[in-house]
This record gives sequence, C-alpha cells and structure tokens, in this order.
Amino acid sequence: MAEAKGKVAVLSGDGIGPEVMEATLRVAEAVETSHGFKLEWKKGLVGGAAIDAKGKALPDETVELCKSSTAVLFGSVGGPKWESLPPNEQPERAALLPLRKIFGLFANLRPAVLYPELTGCSPLRPERVAGGFDVLIVRELTGGLYFGQPKETVKKGSGERAVDTMAYETHEIERVTEVAFRAAEERKKRVTLVDKANVLESSLLWRKTVKALAAKYPGISLDFIYVDNAAMQLVRDPGRFDVLLCENLFGDILSDEAAAVAGSLGMLPSASLGQGRFGLYEPSGGSAPDIAGKGIANPIAQILSLALMLDMSFGQRAAAESIRAAVAGAIREGWRTADIASPGEKSQGTREMAGEIARRIASGSGKR
Ligand code: NAD
Repeated sequence: MAEAKGKVAVLSGDGIGPEVMEATLRVAEAVETSHGFKLEWKKGLVGGAAIDAKGKALPDETVELCKSSTAVLFGSVGGPKWESLPPNEQPERAALLPLRKIFGLFANLRPAVLYPELTGCSPLRPERVAGGFDVLIVRELTGGLYFGQPKETVKKGSGERAVDTMAYETHEIERVTEVAFRAAEERKKRVTLVDKANVLESSLLWRKTVKALAAKYPGISLDFIYVDNAAMQLVRDPGRFDVLLCENLFGDILSDEAAAVAGSLGMLPSASLGQGRFGLYEPSGGSAPDIAGKGIANPIAQILSLALMLDMSFGQRAAAESIRAAVAGAIREGWRTADIASPGEKSQGTREMAGEIARRIASGSGKR
C-alpha cells in the first residue's frame, strides 16, 4: 500500500451522519486497496455533537483540522435536540456557513441523477423520466441576495422597509462559470445559464460574462433560460438539461427541485469548492432524525460524496469511477435501502448496502 498522500477531515455530525459515514469509510478502504493509494482520515466534531461535547457547533480544533486537510467529508448536522437554541448557535448555521466562509467555498455542485431502475422513485410520471436523467446544478454560493449590501430592515412611516441586494461582480461570475464549463467538458458538453435577464440587471451581467468566457470553451454549447421556465422544464423534462449554472438564490431553489424529481435525498451527493483543490463534500439531504439510529439510512449520497471528493480534490478519477460503477451495479441488481424500495419490495440496511458496494469495488465487478 502506498504511503498516505493527502488528509481528509471526516466530520460525521448528527442524526444519520455517523451511520452513513461509518459505512462510507468501509467503501473508502475498499477503493484505497483496489486502486493502490492511501489517504489519512482524521475525525472531528461538528454540529450538535460538537455543541454537546465542546459548547459550539464548529470548535476551533475542527477548524484547524479542516485547515490542515485537503478536503472535508461532511455528514450532516442538526436535529430536534438543538432546535431551541438561538438561530446563530444552531448546528447548520453555526457550522456550515462559517466553513463556507473560512474556506471561500464559492461553487456548489449538486448532481441530480435518477437511475433508470429507480424511475418509480420519482414523483414524475414514468414517461417523463423514462431512462432516468443526470443533471448537474452548479450554484454560486457566496454572492447574490444572501450576502449583498445593503441588507436591512428600517422603520418607514407606520411600518418598516426591508431590503436585500442582489449584487454580483464580474470576477464572482467568472470563477463559478469556469467550474461549470469544466464540469460540462466531462459530461454532455452543454451549459445552460439560468437567469432573469428580462428584468434583473445582475442577470445581464451574468449573461455578458458567461458569453465572454464561453469563447474559451469552443467544445461546449451554451444556452440561456429564464428561471421561471427552468423551474417548469425541470418537472416537464429534466433529461433535457446537462449543466445548469445558477446564481445563489436560483440555484438554492432549483437544486432542491431537481433533488425532489430525482426521488430520494438518500442518493444525492454534493460538493462545495473554493480556489485550488480544497472542497467540502456532503450528502444533499440533512440528518434525517426520523430514521437516525435505525440502521436503514441510504449511505449512497455519502458514498457518492466520497467519489466526488476523490475525483475533485485528490485527482483519483479511476477510483471515483469505480465507486460510481459499483453503486450503479448494486442498484441495477436490485439492492435497495428502504427509501428507494418499491412498496412490498425487500430492502437492505445501511451497512449491507455499503458492504455490497465495497464488495463490488474489491472484486472489480461494479462495471456499468
Ligand atoms: P432531511 O434531509 O434530514 O430529511 C428529509 C427526508 O428525507 C426525511 O424523511 C429523511 O428520512 C429523508 N432522508 C434524508 N436523507 C436520507 C437518507 N440518506 N436515507 C434515507 N432517507 C433520507 O431534512 P429535514 O428533515 O428537513 O431536516 C432534518 C435536520 O437536518 C434538521 O435539523 C435540519 O436543520 C438538518 N439539515 C442539515 C443539513 C446539512 O447538514 N447540510 C441539510 C439539510 C437539513
């Protein structure tokens, strides 16, 4: 086995986080062995678990651990136990938002994939999703309405006036657009910019900037869609899209819509990227307190987050592909956790599903 090259901060968090992370680390071990590399995996506290042990959701030692790592493999945080805390101390707000800020994570990638064998999980009619689909939403994460200034509520007459500002600068658009174009190069080579250029000044700057950058990527086709139409097309024909590039608010909404039409949150990974190779990788869903501790959570979102991490932060593309192939193979051959099983269909637990994926990787049998 090769010497460890690169360090991963493993932050399991709360709810199903620790269960799906434990299962995922088995898959990590299998892929390290089969592909002859070794990473250093270091666990840290985050979220409610960190509040209980250290009094805050993102302890200093966890920040230090992340700073000394190439990537963060994140579980999920939050749960009923911490919901009565003041908003700023709640696990999600007090852990994830500071991590995004500290590490300048400006691009959020959320693949929404519906496997052909799981079309029954989608709320859409079977003929709309026949054959499944594979859409990647690239969302700008640190600008727009959520951060633009002024952002305030002031007294006005007998009432109040509240303002949020949707502001973008060229460089903020350029860096996330580069991420979208590079992702499209590995996919079907189509980028669709989601905007509202018929009414928003900021959307005009997005169009101008993205069009200018497109010249650097002659192999990628670029088109544009208004956000209201994009929301409609995602439920009419999600398979028509490849990469959807969105500013922060539009991406927040559309990525949840795409996740919903893909069926289960238990299948969907995500990546948040900054400059360089650093990234934070986590399932798109939350801590699922309703099923935590029962051993039935779907580990695939976390396992596919591992694949994204190996690919994007460590350049281990073949290892990532073998994980994806093992997941696709297990699904194809009928392995189901409860969230993706048809009514009456037998389902497997978290460990069994991860064990099957690890077995496929070890035996090299997970070919697509
Ligand atoms: P959720 O995503 O945790 O759960 C929504 C539904 O999806 C539940 O029925 C759950 O059982 C199911 N689900 C999610 N992941 C699954 C998996 N891997 N396997 C099977 N089923 C799965 O959303 P919620 O219920 O709104 O939030 C629960 C907690 O999670 C809250 O405290 C919320 O703040 C937190 N949360 C955290 C994150 C994060 O850590 N990034 C994101 C969203 C929500």
